[in-house]
Amino acid sequence: MRAARTASRQPRDTRRKQEALNAPLDHRAPLVFDTRELGRRPGAMKRLSRTVPAPKDLGVEFIGVPEGATVELDLRLESVMEGVLVTGTGRAPLRGECVRCLEPLEQECEAEFQEMFSYPDADARSRPTADTGDDAEEEDTLFLEADLFDLEPVLRDAVVLSLPLQPVCREDCPGLCPECGARLADDPDHRHDEAVDIRWAALQELAGTIPDGEKDDQGGAGPDADEKQEK
Ligand SMILES: [Zn+2]
Ligand SMILES: [Zn+2]
Repeated sequence: MRAARTASRQPRDTRRKQEALNAPLDHRAPLVFDTRELGRRPGAMKRLSRTVPAPKDLGVEFIGVPEGATVELDLRLESVMEGVLVTGTGRAPLRGECVRCLEPLEQECEAEFQEMFSYPDADARSRPTADTGDDAEEEDTLFLEADLFDLEPVLRDAVVLSLPLQPVCREDCPGLCPECGARLADDPDHRHDEAVDIRWAALQELAGTIPDGEKDDQGGAGPDADEKQEK
């Protein structure tokens, strides 16, 4: 159980948590869970499963769980001395786009999480109050409110952490042609005429030498021309 507590330390959006703490929890909200049946006897354990619609913004820029998509949750609630330890898994469909070729892609997400929800009276001094308002709150503890807890910030952190930073349609996606933007996976033998490139390079070399010679003939014709020659 000690290892479990260490694992629960995850980055968290404190601002969003603060908002959640300021609003009273609604026991009918899909991601709010009731711990009353579990009781407060340390060691008591309860497993439960729930299917909920995904809240909005469950993801990052290129990939995420579409709002309203089915999220399957399996939870284990354990009563411990200072609160309820929640361990679980969330499974949901992902939609996004390949960062290389921009094709839409669909994947599955499986996010594991573990979080401690403390009894409010376990440490009354650190309990955030309405007076703190929108001030930055260093406190990293989540609390039970009237035996309820809100899984949403926990699920959100877990899902975001499980997402690929650079989602790709397939590991070896060749991306787009830098010349014309064609999707190279659709056309593996895609080529542009390299002979054209060589001719252009030769022309560009010629073009680079001629103006220099002309400039010398012109001499200094004003401050602008002088500056150019110095470069
Ligand atoms: Zn791709
Ligand atoms: Zn091309």
